[in-house]
Amino acid sequence: MKMEGAMGSVAERQDGTVIAGVELVCPRCSNCSIRRDGKTAAGKQRWRCKLCGRIFVVEKDGRISPLVKELADNLIKAGVAVPVLAQAFQGHASKRWLYHRRSVIRECR
Ligand SMILES: [Zn+2]
Repeated sequence: MKMEGAMGSVAERQDGTVIAGVELVCPRCSNCSIRRDGKTAAGKQRWRCKLCGRIFVVEKDGRISPLVKELADNLIKAGVAVPVLAQAFQGHASKRWLYHRRSVIRECR
């Protein structure tokens, strides 16, 4: 599967700082200031949180279609509760992912 959808909205500054759109936040502290930190042994892009130093690999969004993501984002912004969305998106997006999206939307503006 291609990762174009997941990586498309990521802009990168010259100093290597990634400006996280809606994709990249630290899984520990939800900080939006993330930078590249080389590759894993498996060749996946590794990221480092500039705030807490947590190193992580982003892959979960690759399974979510851009349409589902856009729809979910709009509904979350409209204030629809996550449990309701989880039911609506059953089979397309997990409740865990929806909570993650909500935290991203709230933290990164
Ligand atoms: Zn962090």
